[in-house]
Amino acid sequence: MSEKNMKGIALSMDDLDKINGGLSQGKRTNRVSKQMMPVSCTKCKKTFDADVQKSSATCPFCGKINKFMG
Ligand SMILES: [Zn+2]
Repeated sequence: MSEKNMKGIALSMDDLDKINGGLSQGKRTNRVSKQMMPVSCTKCKKTFDADVQKSSATCPFCGKINKFMG
């Protein structure tokens, strides 16, 4: 039955790896995903969520293109 024991150890180590990888992957996914941030329109002053990784965002209320610095 020693073979069964070794298999059990291998499996549990694999599971630990999966748990660790899953946790760090989840954090990474959150960071890499779109960086939505509330911005206020320069024209109508309303606040909307925009992807700040883009250089500009169109206001959904008045259609004004708001440009971001950098
Ligand atoms: Zn606007």
